[in-house]
Amino acid sequence: MTYDKENIFAKILKKEIPCESVFENEFILAFKDINPQAKTHILIIPKGEYLDLSDFLQKASALDISSFWKSVDEVLVILKLKDKGFQIKTHKGKEGGQEVFHFHLHLLSNN
Ligand code: 5GP
Repeated sequence: MTYDKENIFAKILKKEIPCESVFENEFILAFKDINPQAKTHILIIPKGEYLDLSDFLQKASALDISSFWKSVDEVLVILKLKDKGFQIKTHKGKEGGQEVFHFHLHLLSNN
């Protein structure tokens, strides 16, 4: 599968579709899921074009990978979730439940 530059998250990154952003820097955008499955349900996406977790880990530079995870930590601070319980999930492939083929994390918390 090749990356579709017109996928919904690519359009959100290009600001062609609005989102409720909670954090943005040069590496990531974090925004509220349109169909929340928990009190807090945030999607965290890298700005680069990666299909899924495997694609990200294969193609992104070591700097981009570490910057992505450091940015995830910033989101946890901003949402005051660092000392509370939360889940981070990612879906890989149609059979793994993935619907949008731009790598993303689901950050979920009921705290
Ligand atoms: P996946 O199943 O690919 O891991 O999850 C895709 C997620 O994107 C779903 O939880 C879905 O609710 C969310 N989503 C789909 N379209 C939009 C949209 O246009 N805006 C936002 N904020 N979330 C979306």
